[in-house]
Amino acid sequence: MVNVAIIGTEKSGRTSLAANLGKKGTVSDITMYNTAKEGKNMVFVDAQSYPKTLKSLVTVLNISDIALLCIPPEGLDAHTGECIIALDLLGFKHGIIALTKSDSTNMHAVDEFKAKLKVITAGTALHDWEFISLNTNKSAKNPFEGVDDLKTRINEMAKKIEVEHAELNSLPARIFIDHAFDVKGKGCVVLGVVKQGISKEKDKTKIFPLDREIEIKSIQSHDVDIDSAPTGTRVGMRLKNVQAKDIERGFIISDKENITSDYVLECTISKFTKKIEPESVLHIFVGLQSEPVRVEKILVDGKEVKEAKPGTTCVLELSGNKKVAYSKEDRFLISNLDLTQRFAAYGFSK
Ligand code: GDP
Ligand code: MG
Repeated sequence: MVNVAIIGTEKSGRTSLAANLGKKGTVSDITMYNTAKEGKNMVFVDAQSYPKTLKSLVTVLNISDIALLCIPPEGLDAHTGECIIALDLLGFKHGIIALTKSDSTNMHAVDEFKAKLKVITAGTALHDWEFISLNTNKSAKNPFEGVDDLKTRINEMAKKIEVEHAELNSLPARIFIDHAFDVKGKGCVVLGVVKQGISKEKDKTKIFPLDREIEIKSIQSHDVDIDSAPTGTRVGMRLKNVQAKDIERGFIISDKENITSDYVLECTISKFTKKIEPESVLHIFVGLQSEPVRVEKILVDGKEVKEAKPGTTCVLELSGNKKVAYSKEDRFLISNLDLTQRFAAYGFSK
């Protein structure tokens, strides 16, 4: 199963495109659109609340395998830039740049726009992403131009991603939770995605950062009961020994995670941010969790320094208030919500 994030600036046509690709499901700050074709399920996730919240953007990216970056003809604005920086800091592997609203521009302008974007994305994670010019306007002269091409491309990418997922099946199961609620007569139900391993019905495992033993009572995918969920599956799970009110977005079902509220991260500071100084308040994202943190110390080559400059690497010592769960290989994103372009760095736990 492959999950696709739909991101972009405001009014870039994200929701129109998502609605065209799937059937509306769970709605919150992110909205799911589901499809089932030839027995294969796909979920398109619209980062509904972006640019208002960075959290919706990071959440959709961290539950997805493919990113569709929507850019409208008039669209080289600050938020398009911010989306490109987010994808780059995440080292996002698979994606397509959808040049939306093709009916409101012309071929010549599209070609010029592509050339410009090629320059902007050179040297980023998006350098070899394909451009597809499309529209979702049924009264256009060329209605739904590019949409079938897009679907074909996504299906081709999905085949590669399924191979990558299969390679992760031998790892211990980890499920990132994005929604939790109580269902009358059924108890606690969580929605999320299997990030690695194979999760099985009746598994006795734990939920983090609660660090509590739980049992997976049953698993559904696309409303169908299944007894095991391999890597990449979007799941609904009934859990025993925990209540929905105790679960937040980003909690992880797994046998073992690190838990911390203080961090020592090896960081790469974005070229497109301002210097970071001790005592400033930043925001970290890891998995689907996010927390404010304070910069305690900045170290370069083991020595304490007064600032971390854009485009450099350093160790950031950060302190927060709440327990966060993560594994060694999880990538942290660091942001400064006071700036226009809010992403500041990425890092890994030392
Ligand atoms: P979002 O803010 O990125 O979710 O964008 P929406 O999907 O809500 O679209 C923003 C506006 O652009 C709406 O008024 C849509 O009707 C319009 N729109 C979206 N896609 C197209 C398109 O392909 N062609 C045209 N002409 N308008 C579009
Ligand atoms: Mg929208």
